Amino acid sequence: MEKPLTHHIRDDKRPLDLKEYEKVGGYEALRKVMKGMSPKAVQDLVKESNLRGRGGAGFATGLKWSFVPMDVPGPKYLIANADEMEPGTFKDRILLESTPHQLIEGMILSAYAIQADHSFVFLRWAYKTAAQAITQALREAYEAGYLGKNILGSGYNLEMHLHTGVGRYMCGEETALLNSLEGKRATPRAKPPFPQISGLFGKPTIVNNVETLCNIPHIVNKGSDWFRTLSRTTDTGTKIYGVSGKVKKPGAWELPLGVTMRELIEEYAGGMQDGVKFRGALPGGASTDFLVEEHLDVKMDYTHVAQAGSRLGTGTLIILDDKTCPVGFVQNMEHFFAQESCGFCTPCREGLPWVDKILASLDLGEGREEDLKLLDFHTKYLGPGNTFCALAPGAMEPLQSALKYFRKDFEQHVHDHRCPWKENGHR
Ligand code: NAD
Repeated sequence: MEKPLTHHIRDDKRPLDLKEYEKVGGYEALRKVMKGMSPKAVQDLVKESNLRGRGGAGFATGLKWSFVPMDVPGPKYLIANADEMEPGTFKDRILLESTPHQLIEGMILSAYAIQADHSFVFLRWAYKTAAQAITQALREAYEAGYLGKNILGSGYNLEMHLHTGVGRYMCGEETALLNSLEGKRATPRAKPPFPQISGLFGKPTIVNNVETLCNIPHIVNKGSDWFRTLSRTTDTGTKIYGVSGKVKKPGAWELPLGVTMRELIEEYAGGMQDGVKFRGALPGGASTDFLVEEHLDVKMDYTHVAQAGSRLGTGTLIILDDKTCPVGFVQNMEHFFAQESCGFCTPCREGLPWVDKILASLDLGEGREEDLKLLDFHTKYLGPGNTFCALAPGAMEPLQSALKYFRKDFEQHVHDHRCPWKENGHR
């Protein structure tokens, strides 16, 4: 196993406190920047590193920062999107619980790069342990002079707040998150304008994922060339990959970008459990397209997974095995997405519950021939460009690819008026 790499992830349940974090080089990047690196120099370094957003979309981080108008006076904001609610995704939770100071340092550096004066950790409501870890770490960081007025004597001021969400998937969408933070209903906003121009309270705002921000101290300390050499492909750096499903050792590991799906499953997750076979996997949480056996040697980075017809997304695989009904598997996902639709736009509000109901009827053996055509129709009708945000198009990714790769199973449900898996005592 290649040795990780950047993040200070520990195995026991206790977070790294300030002293422990400083012992492994914590806040050295902050000292370096505060001693005399300009905001533009930090931005350029991150641009050169080619770090791409780890929340799921993979947008270039340095480029995103560079859209912030630096010459406009008034407040600017930096937000860590810690509202991790993508099904099957638990990578940010590990960082939040084990190394909160790494996130805080990454946030201070990122806030400095765009000259923000206020920053927020927007945390998933259910992440109670993380909330405790961040609260404690914020206290320590303020006491040490890493936050507040005149940070390390540099003249730079930054306040940081922890804000817990209300437990809605929608709040992870960056503009819905902004509305939620402003105390409004969490519906998405039209883009453009992007938050970089008009974000929180209409001011320039950067929203970055937790894992993205945790890379920043290491890039500042060790340089962009070092970061580029960490990966096995042209997509740079490492990724916290995860595997869930019927494998022997489900878990998460920080690995070079570009490990293959086969390595993840066989080497890191210990292979499939005895008596079950791999049928497919959603590579990056529920809102990605299935990859199947022919893709096992695909390099798990943004470029290669896209070439294989899916998206890296959050890099946390959900495995479908041969003892699990693909129709029931997908219905489970669509039920979640239907529940989590914010109801703002009609196709998503009306379409997702319809998809959920059709899949439920197939599962009960009550499906009709025309239902498969209706499902095909929805994958287009709720696809990119037809809805206000990415929720419904994301929800259609597992469905459209299941209809492609496991169509015979869907047809069998219709023709036999039953779910064969249920009869065999599986689900
Ligand atoms: P997006 O591609 O619209 O945007 C990604 C980021 O890039 C945003 O910050 C956006 O402001 C910026 N951006 C994109 N185009 C831009 C442009 N032309 N100019 C300036 N900035 C631009 O994607 P999204 O809707 O923010 O996110 C969708 C992704 O979120 C999906 O890929 C999904 O996998 C992921 N997701 C993750 C979780 C989780 O828990 N981690 C939950 C839900 C969804």
